[in-house]
Amino acid sequence: MHHFSYSGGRLHCEGVDLAAVAAAVGTPCYVYSSATLVRHARVIADAFRGQSVMVAYSVKANGNLAVLATLAGQGCGADVVSGGELLRARKAGIPAAKIVFSGVGKTAAEMTLALEQGIHQFNVESAAELRLLSEVAAKLGREAPVALRVNPDVAAGGHPNISTGKSGDKFGVPWGEAEALYAEAASLPGIRAVAVDVHIGSQIGDLAPMRAAFEKVVGLALRLREQGHAISRIDVGGGLGIPYKEGDAPAPPSDYAAMISEVVAGHGFEIILEPGRVIAGNAGVMLTTALYEKEAPDRTFLIIDAGMNDLIRPALYGAHHDILPLAEPGPGHPLKTYDVVGPICESTDKFASGRAMPAVKAGERLAFMSAGAYGAVLSSAYNARSLVPEVLVDGDRYEIVRRRPNFEESIGLEKVPAWLTTVA
Ligand SMILES: *Cc1c(COP(=O)(O)O)cnc(C)c1O
Repeated sequence: MHHFSYSGGRLHCEGVDLAAVAAAVGTPCYVYSSATLVRHARVIADAFRGQSVMVAYSVKANGNLAVLATLAGQGCGADVVSGGELLRARKAGIPAAKIVFSGVGKTAAEMTLALEQGIHQFNVESAAELRLLSEVAAKLGREAPVALRVNPDVAAGGHPNISTGKSGDKFGVPWGEAEALYAEAASLPGIRAVAVDVHIGSQIGDLAPMRAAFEKVVGLALRLREQGHAISRIDVGGGLGIPYKEGDAPAPPSDYAAMISEVVAGHGFEIILEPGRVIAGNAGVMLTTALYEKEAPDRTFLIIDAGMNDLIRPALYGAHHDILPLAEPGPGHPLKTYDVVGPICESTDKFASGRAMPAVKAGERLAFMSAGAYGAVLSSAYNARSLVPEVLVDGDRYEIVRRRPNFEESIGLEKVPAWLTTVA
């Protein structure tokens, strides 16, 4: 469910004509729908009504300050994977008490920051990390509330590049070592084990592997309680998939919530959720302009002004994005088959191969749908392109929430050493 649709033959985001945004802001740019973000956050929170639940939005899916502030307004917490994301979440108004810190490579400096802020929970991914966290916390005279992220050895069934819960993935503590590590945690200064955490992957449409993982995790948490650990929370991670194209039918959030309630409820655990894509994915589009059509012997290339530096998902995961013209094609508008490519000097700078879509003229504006998650956050300035701007729509108003940097700003962090500029 999202708020992007044609009205009067023009694609709108809520009450805003996207062609007007493209003209004012320039392309490429991202546009996010506040109503969609709010709706998704509410659907998830409402599904758990009456239970002790914390929705820790996964900042890495879309960390724009305005997006975070929108979700903070809905009572969301944050799942962060770096000190930078932690500071972003705090700046957007998310209280530290609603922040969980995930990731395999936390540094001592990041641990210090998170301890000083007083976050809800560290999701610890290895014995070495647990020992360092103990040292850092003890030195600060603080106690770190800890979950071990366990690797349940369950295949999520999604793309291998986004599977995280199989033995052999770099994530989590191996299943067979978890109990011993909880025992060690109990003996370490500055550590208070309060939770078990799991996150098996992303863009998962089938609830069965999630259920299998959560059942294992609840079983482990109950065994840990018997062993004397005060486990009061289960963190089920994120990973619920969204529809990217017609025919995609991932489990709806309501079924996901019902499954979690069924598996986790009844033992008095606080449930922590880390949804990312399911909140932000369908809440954003990327706008672009068609530059050229180029005929090759066996195909037609449609060259657009957005590149893999602006939206890397197709190059990184072979991901599909629907591409819609901002001006709705009338009846009888011809279809044409394109390879849709960007201007970057890389063969992987390709958004679609053999895509049948309404024929496009040079200068026409297009929208890449479902680009709100893992879109702008993964953008770069490769090929010395300027970082892609972002726009937030709310009803019939919009605001540029990250502007396009000018050349001076883009180059401002760089410097030519004096030895290169001094004439001999
Ligand atoms: C990426 C990530 C999430 C969010 O995943 P989505 O598929 O976007 O819901 C949640 N938790 C952790 C630990 C992650 O790495």
